[in-house]
Amino acid sequence: MPNPNHLTKVQRGIISNVLQTRYAESERQAALRMAGQTQVEWAGERMHNEPHEANQSDGDMEVESALSDMQSEAFKGLTAAMDRIHGAAYGICVDCKEPIAFERLRAQPDALRCLACETIFEARRV
Ligand SMILES: [Zn+2]
Repeated sequence: MPNPNHLTKVQRGIISNVLQTRYAESERQAALRMAGQTQVEWAGERMHNEPHEANQSDGDMEVESALSDMQSEAFKGLTAAMDRIHGAAYGICVDCKEPIAFERLRAQPDALRCLACETIFEARRV
């Protein structure tokens, strides 16, 4: 049975600060990306003046949508971690139900798995 108090109040506070910093950073990068998108559009318009522009433009759209998917995934992970952080289940590995090391959570506050399970998970996903 995992101990729900495996993280102290102070540790949760530290992780919470990391989360807020990460969130602010993601917001900043999203804003930068929005500014960058104007340049992509401008480049896209230039390409429309060239022949065979259709394929190129489709490729750009795919890259753009993949980027924004990644961004919203990051936001979702951070927001979910912020909701979870004060709950008993936070910091418990979803696979082996063992506590995730504080150092790992501090480095990656939205981690769902301990390092061992994450390694297995990543290996399976590829
Ligand atoms: Zn685990």
